[in-house]
Amino acid sequence: MHESPLPLSCRPGCGACCIAPSISSLSKPAGTPCHHLDGELRCRIFGRPERPACCSGLQPSFEMCGDSREHALRWLQALEVMTCPQG
Ligand code: SF4
Ligand code: SF4
Repeated sequence: MHESPLPLSCRPGCGACCIAPSISSLSKPAGTPCHHLDGELRCRIFGRPERPACCSGLQPSFEMCGDSREHALRWLQALEVMTCPQG
């Protein structure tokens, strides 16, 4: 019998997905830390209704998060380039 892998946990002190992507609902440009990040790279509005749906819906994954913050930043920067409407 196959067991489902445990869900990946968000890595403390990473914050890559709150920095690398652009987030239009927050007027956040790519590569700029979200203004809701605290000094330990945690979301100050986690669990609050004003947290954008795109943030609530984003789950850690091995593909995105990898084994380091640097991996996640590179992966998310590449995704941003691929999905940028200006090309
Ligand atoms: S990239 Fe992954 S580990 Fe890093 S903050 Fe986002 S969800 Fe957490
Ligand atoms: S609102 Fe919170 S989860 Fe969303 S980008 Fe900002 S700090 Fe990250």
